[in-house]
Amino acid sequence: MIEVDWARLKAHELRKLANENAVVILPIASIEQHGPHLPVMTDTRLGQEIAHRAARKAYSTRAVVVAPVVWSGLSEHHMPFGGTLTLSHDTFRRVVRDLIEAIIRQGFKDILISNSHGGNIIAMQQILDELAPTSKATLVATTYDVEAGEDLSRHLEDQSGVLHAGEAETSMMLVCEPDLVDTSKHN
Ligand SMILES: [Zn+2]
Repeated sequence: MIEVDWARLKAHELRKLANENAVVILPIASIEQHGPHLPVMTDTRLGQEIAHRAARKAYSTRAVVVAPVVWSGLSEHHMPFGGTLTLSHDTFRRVVRDLIEAIIRQGFKDILISNSHGGNIIAMQQILDELAPTSKATLVATTYDVEAGEDLSRHLEDQSGVLHAGEAETSMMLVCEPDLVDTSKHN
């Protein structure tokens, strides 16, 4: 299988990918409570899987490399439920901005921010609005379930879209991490 994981590549391989004008996907996610049946890494794990699968699919058209998932997102609204780790807005925006800048300094020119957590959407758009007009790279941002739209919904039986810890996330986690899904916790 083609290696698309930035963290598993060596420096010279990443320099070569930059020279070949590879696209970089920077996934952003969260660590937050996902009900009694899913682990707190759900958005991070799914964000990684989606980015890797998309990268491998696109690779024959154009090389793609996936940066490590930014697991530390904006989850203030989930703090009371336990298990949740959040950044402040200011820190999150600085982290994402600095990572984008670092990727650009490595020579990459096309960056896709791929989000898998609802709480990051507004900040992601603000970061893009701030950086895109003057950035040396072309920056695009999307949230996977918004991007997939009806293509994703038609696979669901009980819900019309991706809801927090709902049918879609549970189904995808059953594929990615079956041992971590507590299937006794259904109603
Ligand atoms: Zn989620």
